[in-house]
Amino acid sequence: MALNLIMLGPPGAGKGTQAERFAKLKGIPKISTGDMLREAVKAGTEIGLRAKAIMDRGELVSDEVMIGIVQDRMNRDDARSGFILDGFPRTVAQARSLDQVMVGRSPLIVIDIIVPESELVRRLGSRMVCTRCGSNADPSDTKAISTLVCSKCGGQLTQRTDDNQSVVLERLKVYHANTAPLVAYYQGRPTFRAVDGAQAADVVAQALVDAVDGAKSVVVGGSAL
Ligand SMILES: [Zn+2]
Repeated sequence: MALNLIMLGPPGAGKGTQAERFAKLKGIPKISTGDMLREAVKAGTEIGLRAKAIMDRGELVSDEVMIGIVQDRMNRDDARSGFILDGFPRTVAQARSLDQVMVGRSPLIVIDIIVPESELVRRLGSRMVCTRCGSNADPSDTKAISTLVCSKCGGQLTQRTDDNQSVVLERLKVYHANTAPLVAYYQGRPTFRAVDGAQAADVVAQALVDAVDGAKSVVVGGSAL
């Protein structure tokens, strides 16, 4: 069966990093909606051109256009043995559209990365970014953090401007309002798994592999029991 994954989790849960590691490990593409949107626009596909027209008017791309872009991407050869969606779906409406697109494919495995809010605030609030190359400092790189020197390019590290406490809390609030209902939407499924994201990154990565194996084992003949 193909490994078709989606990852849920609040900002700061390490979702993007974990998705990337897992994708590399399993040789499947990590599909980020932001990247896809940019690619579709660049490739000049019909849906890409529609998206560009919408964005040029300063409007948000509709669910219908987004799901079209996701579907195009899933149909590419490199996604034949699976994919991992990052940043999609964000709403229950998008999740419903995704289910329609998934008909006839291996069932979605849904991973929810759980991190307590206090830990998220701490992580998001301490995130340092390089003023020169723009990369995030590794929070465990105490040398870089204490000297404020980027380990990649030697540029100066600064706290991300959108990371002050009230902005962090606002982002978490937006997440809970929009995305947390997704957990309710998916959690009754046998292929839903929660992973403790408060652990060290390597431990989370292994827990993710175990969770996916567990979810896979309930899928027989292409459909979830
Ligand atoms: Zn740098």
